Formats: sequence, C-alpha cells, structure tokens
Amino acid sequence: MPTNQPLHALTLHALFGGTFDPIHYGHLRPVEALANEVGLQQVTLLPNHVPPHRPQPEANPQQRLAMVKLAIADHPLFTVDERELQRTTPSYTIDTLEMIRKERGAALPLAFIIGQDSLLSLHKWHRWQDLLNVCHLLVLARPGYQQQMDSTELQGWLEQHQISDPTLLSQQPSGYIYRANTPLLEISATEIRQRLHQGMGCDALLPHSVLRYIELQGLYR
Ligand code: ATP
Repeated sequence: MPTNQPLHALTLHALFGGTFDPIHYGHLRPVEALANEVGLQQVTLLPNHVPPHRPQPEANPQQRLAMVKLAIADHPLFTVDERELQRTTPSYTIDTLEMIRKERGAALPLAFIIGQDSLLSLHKWHRWQDLLNVCHLLVLARPGYQQQMDSTELQGWLEQHQISDPTLLSQQPSGYIYRANTPLLEISATEIRQRLHQGMGCDALLPHSVLRYIELQGLYR
C-alpha cells in the first residue's frame, strides 16, 4: 500500500453518549483527562433519546441539550451531535455508531467513551458484541464499581480486546478496549437530582451556567 503517512498519524475521533440529566463534572473532567491521556483532539457528546418504555429523564430533550451546550460553551475539546435527540423513534447506540462509521469512512479510528459502570453492564446493550466492529471502547474509571466483569466469559472477552498502550488506538479503526487512568469523581446525575430535590447546593458538582439554567427552568424541584 503506497503511502507516505505513518499509520499513527490518523486522528482518533471519540464520541461520548449519555442521558445527561443533567451533564456534570463527573462526565466532563474524566473526559478532559482522557483526552490528554490518549491524545483526543475532539470529543462529540451524544445525548440519548430515551425510549418511552424506559424511565424518563426529568429534563426534556431540549433541556438536556441546552444544558450540554452550556456546559461545553468555550470548551473547544467538545462538540455535540443532536441526531439521537432529534429522532422520533428510539435508536440504539450501535445503530448510531454504525451511521457515524459510514459517514466518516472505514479507515478512521473511532472510539466510544463509557464509564466503568457501563462497561460492567455492556452485555445488556442491543448487539453489544458488534460495538467493537465499529469502534474502540475507552473506559473511564468510576468510583464504587468493581474492576472484574460479572462472569468468566465476559472477563475473557474484556481481556481479549484490552490494550494498555493507548497509541495503538490510532493505528486501527476499531476493536480495542482501553481502560483509562482518569481521576475518580464520585458524582452522578442521580445524586445531583436528589440534592436539588432536597434544596441542597451542587456548586462543586456541575458548571455554574448549567446550575443557573436549572434554576431558571425550575428543573429538579
Ligand atoms: P444517572 O445517575 O442518571 O444514571 P449518570 O451520572 O450515570 O446518570 P449518564 O448520563 O447516565 O450519567 O452517563 C453517561 C456516561 O457517563 C456513562 O457511560 C457513565 O458510565 C459515565 N459517567 C457518568 N458519571 C461518571 C463519573 N462520575 N465517572 C465516570 N464516568 C461517569
């Protein structure tokens, strides 16, 4: 294959899905650290469409999107992809990732970011075993969740794909799992919603602009 470009010169693109009800520092700070750790230029946030049969977020899709936009304003690392929120029918993560893979071409290294809790329950996701055909998985450390997978079979799957050298991520389009050494932040959207319900402060847990929006919209009362 005649090319003058070394393989490692391909840029790794990363996506980060979530309900973001609301977005918080437990999302933003570990991803910033991850970007430094593995050399990400851009992270695309992908707020989920939550299907009607699942427990609904307290904030509506427009509010969740507005909070994401406020959180990443003036933060060039992040962009947002609104496609899941704009859908009127539910979509699975694998469908969205396959669509993005088609748009970006077969050669581009693509990664999907999840927290350790999501890794532990990944086998419950629709067509979870196809994820690594489309992207790498970058796993954020999260306090309070075990390191080992639930079964020897799942642990075997993890070990088969796991790498410890992040430079490998830009050398092939998909297929690796990298568990990052990101800071442990004990923050969840559930805790933030509960604190706000009880009238407690959340200043250290999420950006000011998002908190102000929550107050103005009368969310999580
Ligand atoms: P909830 O408490 O409502 O379940 P959450 O705080 O877990 O929400 P989500 O929007 O569901 O936030 O999470 C999106 C992604 O971010 C998931 O992959 C999740 O594992 C990860 N994540 C969320 N909070 C943290 C955190 N504090 N540290 C690392 N990863 C996190």
